[in-house]
Amino acid sequence: MESGMISVDRWSRGSQVYFLTHLHADHVRGLTPNWTRGPLYCSRITAKLFPIKFPGFDLSLLRIVEIGHWHSVSLLSPSSGSSTTVYFMAIDAHHCPGAMMYLFRGEFGCTLYTGDFRWESTSERAQNGRTMLLNALKDLQLDMLYLDNTYCNPTYSFPSREVAARQVLSIISSHPNHDIVIAVDTLGKENLLLHISRVLKTKIWVWPERLQIMHLLGFHDIFTTKTSVTRIRAVPRYSFNIETLEGLNTIRPTIGIMPSGLPWAQKSARGKGNFSFTWHTDITTPISTSKTNGGSLTAGSYDKYIYTVPYSDHSCFPELQKFVEFLKPINIKGIVSSSTSYVEPLYHFGHLCRTQQASEFLFQKLRSKGCEKVEVIHAKSPFGDTGTVPLWRKRRIRQFFGTSNHVSRVRLLRRERQGVKIVDRDPD
Ligand SMILES: [Zn+2]
Repeated sequence: MESGMISVDRWSRGSQVYFLTHLHADHVRGLTPNWTRGPLYCSRITAKLFPIKFPGFDLSLLRIVEIGHWHSVSLLSPSSGSSTTVYFMAIDAHHCPGAMMYLFRGEFGCTLYTGDFRWESTSERAQNGRTMLLNALKDLQLDMLYLDNTYCNPTYSFPSREVAARQVLSIISSHPNHDIVIAVDTLGKENLLLHISRVLKTKIWVWPERLQIMHLLGFHDIFTTKTSVTRIRAVPRYSFNIETLEGLNTIRPTIGIMPSGLPWAQKSARGKGNFSFTWHTDITTPISTSKTNGGSLTAGSYDKYIYTVPYSDHSCFPELQKFVEFLKPINIKGIVSSSTSYVEPLYHFGHLCRTQQASEFLFQKLRSKGCEKVEVIHAKSPFGDTGTVPLWRKRRIRQFFGTSNHVSRVRLLRRERQGVKIVDRDPD
């Protein structure tokens, strides 16, 4: 795809049309209420939530894309100056409300940009997405796959959200006299909260902005801002930390639950709001060593008040592998550069691509940079084990179709050393 035509989740000037996959903060950095750079394509749900996220935004710039239909837009080819048609289709990303992938087709070939997505093989929605992609691609070959590589490392194998939701319920049920706080973002994990509410027949407390979002999503009688009517509270993730839990426990017995695919995080200095945790198989007894269950992460806890459950809205490694096997793209690029994945998805999935040229090129490139030594970072964990240490901070590589500004990890590290600002992102 030529540069100067389309941007996805990137908001700097220079494109003719802009696409938004979903409203999580790391995908809208640079987008402001007074943004006027061109039409912005998004889902109907995203458009509905736009005024909350961007009060005063000119909503006439929004173009709603319905899932499962080919749409087209006529653009100017920057190289020839002539008109060219780009076709695009949105596919449910199974991530948070309104999240979509975009499939593009034009004189540049065929490109799929996943944004953040979850590809659970057991899910009916994923099956629908699979059928949609099959019908859309037909005889087309996928030239480029921009992949959500948040958990693109064999270390990350976690259960479906349905199974993880049962783990959350089990933790809550084993603490019948405790208050429960669950860390969530301003968007996402709604199904987990709905499941808890339904099974336990209770309302769930949320903060006022979250209640507004829940109402816009159509959930009117399940959530409340009255603390007196429920012992279960969904709280902003930024406010969720060991110090807060310790404070709450001086008032009432309280446990915290962190639903995330990230198995542990490093605890920094007290008062900084960060915390450590790891996984284990007995979800009712906090322990202090790291375990996995046959390679699949299960619920666990490091701090005595905090339980972590591998409930993630991102695909785990085996799901990414199945996705790539299914699509057989010619080339893949990760949309996130993080220390959890550290190398390009091609390193893991190059053999599944329609041509292996790209992966062989990457191998040569990495070898020439001595990168085979840093595929997985080993470090001393806080628990005395030596293992892969995924860091909390991740950095998104800003993708811009048609340009070759995709930044390899090697180049990214080099840039970091040079002090170039790289945007952080949160795992979810
Ligand atoms: Zn997201």
